[in-house]
Amino acid sequence: MTVSASTPTTKSRVLIAGATGFIGQFVASASLDSGRQTYVLVRPGLAGCLSKSKVVKSLHDKGAIILNGSISDRDNMAKILKDHEIDIVISAVGGANVLDQIGLVEAIKAVGTIKRFLPSEFGHDVVRAVPVEPGEQMYKDKRVIRELVEKYSIPYNYICCNSIASWPYYDNKHPANVLPPLDHFKIYGDGTVKAYFVAGTDIGKFTMKIVDDVRAINKSVHFRPSSNFYNMNELASLWEKKIGRTLPRATVTEQDLLDIAAENIIPESIVASFTHDIFIKGCQSNFSINGPDDIEVGTLYPDEAFRTVDECFNDFALELKDTAMDLGSKANAAPNHAVESMALSAPC
Ligand code: NDP
Repeated sequence: MTVSASTPTTKSRVLIAGATGFIGQFVASASLDSGRQTYVLVRPGLAGCLSKSKVVKSLHDKGAIILNGSISDRDNMAKILKDHEIDIVISAVGGANVLDQIGLVEAIKAVGTIKRFLPSEFGHDVVRAVPVEPGEQMYKDKRVIRELVEKYSIPYNYICCNSIASWPYYDNKHPANVLPPLDHFKIYGDGTVKAYFVAGTDIGKFTMKIVDDVRAINKSVHFRPSSNFYNMNELASLWEKKIGRTLPRATVTEQDLLDIAAENIIPESIVASFTHDIFIKGCQSNFSINGPDDIEVGTLYPDEAFRTVDECFNDFALELKDTAMDLGSKANAAPNHAVESMALSAPC
């Protein structure tokens, strides 16, 4: 396949798989905001899931064209890519479905006209990071997809966006949907190992900048905003400032995290193994980005600011205030910890 490095254009036709998911929603919204013709692949059977149906309707209302299918269906995917003259394919399928992408990759190869493919990565560099099991299995699956993409010479990007900007709960795969703690902090190890935090909206925004940027072709794109490089102790202090009080801190040791990972409860044990890799082993920052196959997103767009963790925590604090007002008017007696696990729609 010839690698056609197009000039950046908002005319590209983008197909997104996984747009009803956590990361996929950010990417699909950003694609629509960028003015690109955006096709969203939806698996049949959403009728029973109100929240997903709502996401699909909202994307449709914003201009997305909804297509039905599963990425594991090679022939249907090839037809979709051909019929709609898709230029860019982005997959944000969840960790359990990474290998479904084999059908999609085979379809991209068969069609031969896709200018860029972004497989479902959106986390760490799965070649460099080696979490304990069961987390590593997901990386092994992602490595299988990378190998296939490169074997077929499909133009690609691997988005290594690090952590979502939120309190990094060790047992919640979508922590940005939950308020930071209100009763006590659980600090991993001594709380001094740093990680990069990126708002979901920025994951979407920068992904859509990269997809037809010729400078990024065939590279792993690392998101390392220096303004958002925090350790657990610093994150806790920042949240304390927002809520105007201090909270007790409990230590979750390295062994605690390894024990939770070893329990093999999915997805919690997977999240625990990633938490161990990030906050004990330092997997986000223990390597430098200087190889020919790597690029840091800030070097591509030096004038584009990232939302700061401080701003994201302001959003959480605002949600907390609104929620407290709601609860106050309803029950007048809800303790803080009842609010803690409440789902949010914070943009981070
Ligand atoms: P979700 O589980 O939230 O959503 C998965 C999406 O993929 C759903 O829309 C689902 O559709 C769709 N899907 C699954 N299988 C198929 C298929 N065969 N064909 C078409 N669509 C399919 O995923 P996440 O957002 O949690 O994960 C996406 C990626 O982001 C993963 O690679 C994950 O590792 C990474 N991630 C990164 C985080 C970070 O902090 N950096 C946090 C969370 C995830 P349906 O509605 O039909 O189920």
